Amino acid sequence: MANMRVTRALFGLCAIVIGSLAMAQNAPEKPPRVIDVHVHAMDAEFPGVGPMCPNTPGFAASDPKEKEAPFGWIKTDCTPALYPAKPGEYIKDVVAEMDRLNVTAVVFGDPKSVEKWKQAAPGRVIPGTSFNNGMQPGNRVPLAELRDDFTKGGFKVMGEIGLQYEGLSPSDPSVDQYFALAEELDIPVAIHMGTGGSGRANITLPKFRGSMGNPLLLEDLLARHPKLRVQVMHAGYPMIDNMLTLLQANSHVYVDVAGLIWSYPLKEVNRYIQRLVDAGFEDRVMFGTDQLVWPGLMAYSISIIQNADYLTPQQKRDILYNNAGRFLRLDTVETK
Ligand SMILES: [Zn+2]
Repeated sequence: MANMRVTRALFGLCAIVIGSLAMAQNAPEKPPRVIDVHVHAMDAEFPGVGPMCPNTPGFAASDPKEKEAPFGWIKTDCTPALYPAKPGEYIKDVVAEMDRLNVTAVVFGDPKSVEKWKQAAPGRVIPGTSFNNGMQPGNRVPLAELRDDFTKGGFKVMGEIGLQYEGLSPSDPSVDQYFALAEELDIPVAIHMGTGGSGRANITLPKFRGSMGNPLLLEDLLARHPKLRVQVMHAGYPMIDNMLTLLQANSHVYVDVAGLIWSYPLKEVNRYIQRLVDAGFEDRVMFGTDQLVWPGLMAYSISIIQNADYLTPQQKRDILYNNAGRFLRLDTVETK
């Protein structure tokens, strides 16, 4: 989802606190660690955005003769609905959730925004930034500046790269220099591929092209840059056959299930994740939220993996932590 601003982010250090045995016994036990590979460094108020019932059961048609809503979700009731944060409290609320759920997140945004998140959540933020400068399509960050972000600024992932919202393929020659930089610096790239958001791209996003979310459009890019490591954001949904074809063809490709996990019909979401796992790619599916607006989204999205009866406990741990740990080359990999 998230045709969000894709720009830059930040990083943090883990603090190790060694306490007495008594202190350790009194400390509340944290749940097993989770890595969310897809969070946006937002700090905005969301005027007009109300409670949300995730996993819409469908997308309504509309008629160009009438005034058309920008959002095509079929309205439903749910308990509990997810509520937007109160004005000024979004970061605080999401960070509280990250602490409670023991989440470390890759946070994408411009350097200033990401710095805010880093300050708010020390040790829980892995910084990500991209070559899009603001929301303006085609407005790119100068290559030298981006190089500095990765070599001096502590950024670890290049993303979210939202070329699909510009109607551009990731293999388009006009952006190749950025991917060449990522390959040279050994920085993984996170590219938005698939999902259309609200079912009304024709009304709100005139340059968006569903066809530019085809995972196989990555093949030329990957052939030009054989060491590039790619996170296909939103797992190329709904092009499962092409996604599996790419995963089969290139072992440097991982997927995240962000956005799609809470925004499409639940049965379909589970079928899609199951298909990825059953096809043999259980070690390349990463958990992500596409966290925005509603602080409860992260816990809700985690619960979908935890409640998936088609996944073994090990597969759940792999999706929620281990696969991202390997992709991001974090030191620790959990086995339980
Ligand atoms: Zn996205």
